[in-house]
Amino acid sequence: MRLIIMGPPGAGKGTQAKYIAEHFKIPAISTGDIFRANVSEGTELGLAAKRYMDAGEYVPDEVTNAMVRNRIDEPDAEGGFLLDGYPRTLAQVEELDGMIRFTGHQLDAVVCLTVDRDEIVSRLLQRAQVEGRADDTEDVIRRRQEVYLEQTEPLIEVYKQRGIVVEIDGMGEVDDVTARIFEALDVVPES
Ligand code: AMP
Repeated sequence: MRLIIMGPPGAGKGTQAKYIAEHFKIPAISTGDIFRANVSEGTELGLAAKRYMDAGEYVPDEVTNAMVRNRIDEPDAEGGFLLDGYPRTLAQVEELDGMIRFTGHQLDAVVCLTVDRDEIVSRLLQRAQVEGRADDTEDVIRRRQEVYLEQTEPLIEVYKQRGIVVEIDGMGEVDDVTARIFEALDVVPES
């Protein structure tokens, strides 16, 4: 399966991505996690990404696209993958189309988690305490939501027009959300 999980920051993408990846035996590829690992290791990529991440802005497409291309080329992603946090811009959608076309496969589904705004902010503030992420301060949280609405939410429409969006209610208990996702994805034919 070649899948994407989308939704606003705080919708629970990372949590659900792990369960989906396990279920379909594919790697969950989180661009945010890869960036954070590079920041903590002090790599060149980490240095390039850090100032954008700390401000709640997107890392430039060229940097992000190259990173995803390399990751998708790894042997464990040959049989499929789940992307969490990518694509986030229209340019990234086009780039990903090219990467997948090159493998001779198709994108099977885009899981969109829907949650209400108040719930999201409280989840993010809670995560800030638990994980201590540098980009979970209130101002940055607000900026990340704005950037999502401006640049990423419109992508859902692009995928809806292709008929591959699976909309999932992301509210409530984690296990219930996972069950809804599995139920919806189990009827999606693999390309
Ligand atoms: P996340 O953990 O997915 O919320 O990502 C954390 C931060 O990493 C984002 O706020 C961006 O600064 C950066 N980032 C992650 N994925 C992307 C992407 N696809 N395009 C640009 N920046 C990204």
